[in-house]
Amino acid sequence: MKRDIDVLVSEVGPRDGLQSIQTVFTTDGKMEWIRSEAAAGVPQMQVGSFVNPKLLPQMADSAEIVAQSILIDGLTVSALVPNMKGAVNGLAAGAHQIGVVMSVSEEHNQANIRRSVQESLDGFAEIVAYRNEHPEYKDQIISGGMATCFGCTISGPVPVKDVMKVAEGLMERGAQRLNVADTVGYANPKQVRDLFTELYRTVGKDVPVGAHFHDTRGLGLANVFAALDAGVREFDSCLGGLGGCPYAPGASGNIVTEDLVFMLEAQGMKTGVDLDGLLQAREIMERQLKGEPVHGTYINAGPPKGFTPATHAA
Ligand SMILES: [Zn+2]
Repeated sequence: MKRDIDVLVSEVGPRDGLQSIQTVFTTDGKMEWIRSEAAAGVPQMQVGSFVNPKLLPQMADSAEIVAQSILIDGLTVSALVPNMKGAVNGLAAGAHQIGVVMSVSEEHNQANIRRSVQESLDGFAEIVAYRNEHPEYKDQIISGGMATCFGCTISGPVPVKDVMKVAEGLMERGAQRLNVADTVGYANPKQVRDLFTELYRTVGKDVPVGAHFHDTRGLGLANVFAALDAGVREFDSCLGGLGGCPYAPGASGNIVTEDLVFMLEAQGMKTGVDLDGLLQAREIMERQLKGEPVHGTYINAGPPKGFTPATHAA
């Protein structure tokens, strides 16, 4: 299904949100959430992560979740993978897109996946080669995910040139798209506009680039605005801003999907997403939480008087 949208909203809650809270959703519970959000018009969802289930029990049913999600009409299903083993499983499960993630910060990459950035780039090339050797996977997209692009909790500031080096390395090794993540919520709007401007200069305007912001310091939507200004048209977000940051107690997680959709629609940018449907999905998600906080402001304030979402405008 081809959608008439200006900006792609990619829900990452079933992965990023769930992996950073205590509650473990049942497979049926996750599917109820995913189905309700897809029914609200969300075009893309990252539904799981192919990691060691001993480390992340919340993600242990990712293969089953992907298998059920790809049956939902019109939904692009993505999954996160840290390495070849995850990629093998993610491709076999049928994910339309797998995001192979590495940190731009050398220290963060070592701490997280015990590899140097160069080793991660080599690993990325092996994953692309594996996909290419299997004709049955030829339509499955491999995205290069870059974490800690705006700063790192271990090493501090991350130079823009380091991000460009990794971006070029990923493109040379066959990445079909890129995802730029502010993993720990350090980014500010000026930094965001500068980085994406430089990124398009480096890899070209034709490469699809997604942005992944956390609202840790309240700058999430301001960063979206700056990224829009630089030309980004794809954003990760999480319903109810579920999740947090293990390094910042009480901090909120990803930018809030319903607040993001409101902002885009209010600015005249079509997302294809229905806000009422999104709030229904949020309720389905929230019902399953065991006391974990949720975030967002649209849920409390509702639409302004006379508000017409761009998606519904004739
Ligand atoms: Zn994240």
